[in-house]
Amino acid sequence: MVILGAGESGVGAALLGKLKGFDVFVSDEGTIQSLYKKELEQHAIEYEEGKHTEERILAADLVVKSPGIGDKNELVKKIRAKRIELISEIELGYRYKGKSKIIAITGSNGKSTTTALIYHICETAGLSCALVGNIGYSFAKQVAEDPKDIYVAEISSFQLDDVNSFRPDIAILTNITEDHLDRYEYKFENYVKSKFRITENQTGEDVFIYNLDDKVIEKYINQFSIKSNTLPFTMNKPLPQGAYLMNANVHLKWKLEEMIMNVADFAIKGKHNRYNTMAAGLTALVMDIRKEYIREAVQTFASLEHRMEPVATIRGIEFINDSKATNVNSTWYALESMEKPTILILGGVDKGNDYSSIKELVKEKVKAIICMGVDNRKIHEAFGNEVELIVNTNNAKDAVQSAFHFANKGDVVLLSPACASFDLFKNYEDRGNQFKQAVKEL
Ligand code: ADP
Repeated sequence: MVILGAGESGVGAALLGKLKGFDVFVSDEGTIQSLYKKELEQHAIEYEEGKHTEERILAADLVVKSPGIGDKNELVKKIRAKRIELISEIELGYRYKGKSKIIAITGSNGKSTTTALIYHICETAGLSCALVGNIGYSFAKQVAEDPKDIYVAEISSFQLDDVNSFRPDIAILTNITEDHLDRYEYKFENYVKSKFRITENQTGEDVFIYNLDDKVIEKYINQFSIKSNTLPFTMNKPLPQGAYLMNANVHLKWKLEEMIMNVADFAIKGKHNRYNTMAAGLTALVMDIRKEYIREAVQTFASLEHRMEPVATIRGIEFINDSKATNVNSTWYALESMEKPTILILGGVDKGNDYSSIKELVKEKVKAIICMGVDNRKIHEAFGNEVELIVNTNNAKDAVQSAFHFANKGDVVLLSPACASFDLFKNYEDRGNQFKQAVKEL
């Protein structure tokens, strides 16, 4: 077995492969973090870094590819041409999970929040469960080292691109908006198809929970032959089965079970989090978790770092870190929940953004835009007519200082960049942390 990429998922796959008796070889074109090297060495797993030794890789009978490596990669093309089996790490984990259940969450936005909330409900109910996948911990590694009855897994479209038997007991699709188009030949349809693959192997025993208000899901859902029980959630109308919002109450219905929760009791606020809570609540009901646990968990769930995270209020100016907003849709939800005049910090690596969907909200709520990126032209083009003040910065400190300079008492400074962070930062966490540090230094 060859593993391409030695990050969290690659190393996890290597550990599971080794445990299951494969002859494992890990190959990473870049440098491998020392923490991961140590892990490989401890388990006597062979690896290389800074190169891919082709003869050895192409002699494998199974290749596990890290989600970061795309199909355009020359080596991947050769592996496919040789018809060597190529799978993702979640597919590998799935093959060895035994009888345990999988709850898999995908979508363009809200994955981590929904995943963490479902996990919190399971934990509150005292179930044997693990939080895995894109959220930061390898599924395969969990299966190898500490198997549980339930895996709550955040799944990216990249992981879904290379599955063939992966079958979640409960699949959740939070929404679909344009993201990562660079990896899908700039064809939105390819990205949509990849998301729906979460249902591909489901049967009548499984459940598919999805957002009925999502125009893209609505448009495409009938193109896929989904065999599982479909369970929608919506804010627009009552449903006989599924979840809906009515007069500030969320109603959850599954078979004969029914439950009502008031949104005022939800620990996480905002319209987007009502959707996330509906999805998580339905999941819990399907899992037969007692209602008192569900109720308790939604009330005690602490929101995640870098997602609409309140940082500080300085001289009456509030600072919010939403660094995780790496696409336009998540910035839409951030703006939607703003109730004060907003200085918006925007920019970074644009993955094919169309800013038109946030134009109205920007016009209504944003008094200044602070661009924080290497190339800010698209932002100027998009908002030049809507916002009087647009300035360029290229680091967190300058961005925070300019925002502070333009803000008045009662304003909000919101970092919700709608872009990836790789031009100026290591990742979105680094961007959020540098933002918070700069706020502290004001
Ligand atoms: P993901 O893991 O899919 O990136 P997160 O839960 O980390 O999602 O949230 C990412 C960003 O999207 C945050 O900025 C958050 O405010 C926003 N967000 C969260 N849930 C939703 C949702 N259901 N719809 C739209 N945006 C959302």
